[in-house]
Amino acid sequence: MSTFDYDLFVIGAGSGGVRAARISSQYGARVGIAEEYRYGGTCVIRGCVPKKLMVYASRFPHEFEVAKGYGWSVGETDFSWADFLARKDSEIARLEGIYKTNLQKAGVTIHDTRAEIAGPHRVWLVAEDREVTAERILIATGGTANVHDDLPGVEHAITSNEAFHLDGVPGSVVVAGGGYIAVEFASIFAGLGAKTTLVYRGEKILRGFDEDVRDLVTNQLAANGVEVITRTVFAGLEKHEAGIDVSLANGKTLTKDVVMFAIGRSPNSHGLGLENVGVQTKENGAIIVDGFSKTTADGIWAVGDVTDRINLTPVAIREGHAFADTEFGGKPTQADHMTVATAVFTTPEIGTVGLTEDEARAQCGEIDVYSTSFRAMKHAFADINERMLMKVIVDAATDRVVGVHLAGDAAGEMIQMVGIAVKMGATKADFDATVAVHPTAAEELVTLREPTQQFRKAAE
Ligand code: FAD
Repeated sequence: MSTFDYDLFVIGAGSGGVRAARISSQYGARVGIAEEYRYGGTCVIRGCVPKKLMVYASRFPHEFEVAKGYGWSVGETDFSWADFLARKDSEIARLEGIYKTNLQKAGVTIHDTRAEIAGPHRVWLVAEDREVTAERILIATGGTANVHDDLPGVEHAITSNEAFHLDGVPGSVVVAGGGYIAVEFASIFAGLGAKTTLVYRGEKILRGFDEDVRDLVTNQLAANGVEVITRTVFAGLEKHEAGIDVSLANGKTLTKDVVMFAIGRSPNSHGLGLENVGVQTKENGAIIVDGFSKTTADGIWAVGDVTDRINLTPVAIREGHAFADTEFGGKPTQADHMTVATAVFTTPEIGTVGLTEDEARAQCGEIDVYSTSFRAMKHAFADINERMLMKVIVDAATDRVVGVHLAGDAAGEMIQMVGIAVKMGATKADFDATVAVHPTAAEELVTLREPTQQFRKAAE
């Protein structure tokens, strides 16, 4: 019998921590978990889930426009932020309850408290004012939103955390950032009717995504009413009765009701007592782990955003599960970070898996690009000027599809399916051999016959 209070103690009940705790317990481990805020973590409480609900809410005005093209007379419409918020909050509370109950059903002991590492095998439970011991400790504390702390007037700005609890839809809003969270929120606010500006320090939003996708989404955001200002940053914020004056480094000033930072997230590793046990971090605070999520200290592992590998919920879940399989299930497993499909819930939506065109050119050398941009039937009929993009990138030497990039309605749903084929190593010939589903937008993926571009190494 172990002399420790627990076989495993998990710090943080978000996507990664909950999965690791539940599966470890099901393998027979005695597991404790501490959560300082709410069960389910960022994704459930103030990330993916409430965001997607806001995305749905924000798309109805667009659908009302489409409806007119199909002969509908759309009467006066009205959006009640208060009703939406109440329903959203009760849904989040319901999901949180499920997460908590599932932990308890699996036999995990829950502690509603902040936890810190006091020493090897020792965890300090702040609200309980006591220490527990554990043979293994798993850090799953996620990440936090960055803000420019030294910006004058920074206290007037919000992050995504507060965006879920605004008093109402703002009349006007400016979002700083060009990553997926910034662009999603700009889409949401614009869809709900706010006069929306996106300010990004780089040249083009959505760095890391395929260039054609970036271009299409940038254009479509503008068509949807989002003003995109690039190559500048906030220089200062000043609040007055009519709103918040936002001075930009390029000399312009905007006046907005709400100012939001979405300029990236940092691993939540500060104040955890890592120095007490020799857990090493990178400069940005990311906990350094090996393929099995083991830290540089014996008896301590870390999963999810706190390790800053791929900061997505399904990845954190995979890492947590792989940890449990390895340590308590007798099945040494490394989470696979290759070819992870992902979606961005802008309007239009993005779905992407594998290499971008630039990455494929660098890694494969010779590639064929099959690309098409068109108005989907639904929008063409209603005379809505919204374009869809589909791009398939093929390694010319092997015929293997190494990247698929979609932008348009349901791109997130489509990429989950295409992701299976790409992960399995499907070739372009496999795509070609697949009979189309008609009439759909997705059928374009299997009917792209001629490459739009071919990149070949220059002859020696
Ligand atoms: P988290 O889910 O962040 O959980 C960490 C938990 O630890 C939190 O509950 C926190 O309160 C708790 N905690 C922290 N420190 C302590 C401590 N010392 N003691 C006790 N508890 C502690 N991902 C997607 O895949 N798809 C999306 O569409 C998507 N949208 C997003 C939208 C937004 C606005 C944000 C912010 C994130 C989004 N993400 C999305 C990312 C996703 O939420 C994260 O990748 C995921 O939640 C990471 O899981 P995790 O287990 O590492 O950490």
